[in-house]
Amino acid sequence: MLAVNYLNKSFGGLQANQNIKFEVAEGEILGVIGPNGAGKSTLFDLVTGFEKPDSGDVLFLGKSILGLRPDQINRLGIGRTFQKLKPFPQMTVEENVMVGLMQHVSQMNEAREEAHRYLEFVGLIDKMSVYAHGLSTGQRKRLELARAMASRPKLLLLDEVTGGVDQKTVPELVSLVERLRTEGTTVVLIEHNMKVLMSLADHVVALHLGQQIAYGRPKEIQAHKQVIESYLGASYA
Ligand code: ADP
Ligand code: MG
Repeated sequence: MLAVNYLNKSFGGLQANQNIKFEVAEGEILGVIGPNGAGKSTLFDLVTGFEKPDSGDVLFLGKSILGLRPDQINRLGIGRTFQKLKPFPQMTVEENVMVGLMQHVSQMNEAREEAHRYLEFVGLIDKMSVYAHGLSTGQRKRLELARAMASRPKLLLLDEVTGGVDQKTVPELVSLVERLRTEGTTVVLIEHNMKVLMSLADHVVALHLGQQIAYGRPKEIQAHKQVIESYLGASYA
């Protein structure tokens, strides 16, 4: 579904992504790990057109999407959430989700009904009339998810969906990701919580200082010497 081919990106002298290369098969969940500053969000920016790579290519369903704008890439079927949440604060929860649907449906009622389905899915239906700025972090993460779903993605990139939410909410978010996959969405997941990652991911890419230091099954990654040294820590081993 997705092929990332030798992506390079630097900001000034800093190599944020260096020869990143992996593939994502349809129906799988790929995890992306690495310490802060490793280049994970930059990778998402490159795939979704928010940043242009210095070199390398990104193929979606066999075709290069290099040079396309974020909205074009989104329309092709790649959705994303942002680590730094970006809801429209002066719109209600319902309106935030409806906005994303307007590129697919022409009727307001249709958009509203579909928005309600996503809000139901993420458990925010009872908050649909609330302004987005009034939501807790956990609720905003769910709103982000519903908004991303509203672009009807085939591939969904989730940037730290469980980051900063209270521990009780984590299992609910995990089961949402599981259900997304069950319903046919392929997922790439940046995730710091190793328990979450190990339970969800089919494969894992590990980044460190812009470099891809490992790719493999979760079990292999957990036992990978360099991943342990640079990220998981000796106590984890
Ligand atoms: P991660 O998501 O793994 O924490 P990022 O991809 O956000 O890492 O950042 C990787 C590195 O690139 C960091 O050192 C960060 O400061 C830098 N960086 C990211 N985006 C920009 C940008 N737009 N301009 C300059 N530096 C950036
Ligand atoms: Mg990040």
